[in-house]
Amino acid sequence: MIRIDGVSKYYGAFCALDNVSLDVQAGEVLMIVGPSGSGKSTLLRCINHLEVPNAGQIVVDGITVNNNEAHINAVRAEVGMVFQRFELFPHLTVLDNICLAQQKVRKRSRQESEQIAWKLLEKVGIPEQARKFPTQLSGGQQQRVAIARSLAMQPKVMLFDEPTSALDPEMIKEVLDVMLDLAREGMTMVVVSHEMGFARNAAHQVVFMDQGRIIEQGPPNQVFTQPNHERTKLFLSRIL
Ligand code: ADP
Ligand code: MG
Repeated sequence: MIRIDGVSKYYGAFCALDNVSLDVQAGEVLMIVGPSGSGKSTLLRCINHLEVPNAGQIVVDGITVNNNEAHINAVRAEVGMVFQRFELFPHLTVLDNICLAQQKVRKRSRQESEQIAWKLLEKVGIPEQARKFPTQLSGGQQQRVAIARSLAMQPKVMLFDEPTSALDPEMIKEVLDVMLDLAREGMTMVVVSHEMGFARNAAHQVVFMDQGRIIEQGPPNQVFTQPNHERTKLFLSRIL
C-alpha cells in the first residue's frame, strides 16, 4: 500500500530524514517509535505531501507522490491523518466538523454526509456529542471526532501522529480502543506513538527511528525484547 524508497529530507543543511526505505502492506499496522526530533512526523508528512522530500520516492496505492497536483489530490483522498492536537474547527459542531469535507471535497449532499457522520459517531462511541462544540468535549472525545472526520472521507490508509500524547491518561484508552477496532477491521495504519500496549496488541511491524534513520525494524516482540542498538535499548528502558 505504501512504498517509501530512499527518502531523504533536509531543512537547510539539517538532515531530518536520511535515506529512509519502508514498505507497508495493505491491512498492516506499522508503528513508528523513536526519540523526539528523530524524523517521525516528517516521514508521515512526506507520505501525504505535506513535506516534499529532497530525494527518494514514495508510492501510495500505486500513486507516485510528487508535485503533480492530480497526484497530490489523489493521495490525499486516500490518506487520512490524525494529529496530536485534534485540529477540529472550533466554530463548528461535532456533526458539522464531520460533514464539512464530505460536502466540500466529496460533494456529498448534506443528508448523506449527516448519515455517514451519525454512523461514525456511533462507531467511535459519542453520538450524544453530535450537537456540541469541540471545546465542550474532553480531549479523548475530540480526538475521536477527529478520527471520525477522517474516516468519513473513506481513506485507504490512516496516519496517526502521536494521537494520544496530548490526552489525560484516563482518555487514552478510549482513543486506542477506536484505533484497535480500525486495525482489526483491516485498515492500513501508520502510527507514531509510544503506547507500547497498543504496539503489542495491534502492530504487525515496529520501526525505531533515530536521527532521521531507521535503526531497528521487526515485529513488536523482537524490537522490544531484542533490540540491536544501544540507542534503542536506552530509549526503551525509559519508556517501557
Ligand atoms: P519527531 O516527529 O520524530 O519528533 P520531526 O520529524 O518533527 O521529529 O523533526 C525532525 C527534525 O527536523 C527535528 O530536529 C526538527 O527540529 C526538524 N524540523 C522539523 N520540521 C522542521 C522545519 N519545518 N524546519 C526546520 N526544521 C524542522
Ligand atoms: Mg513528531
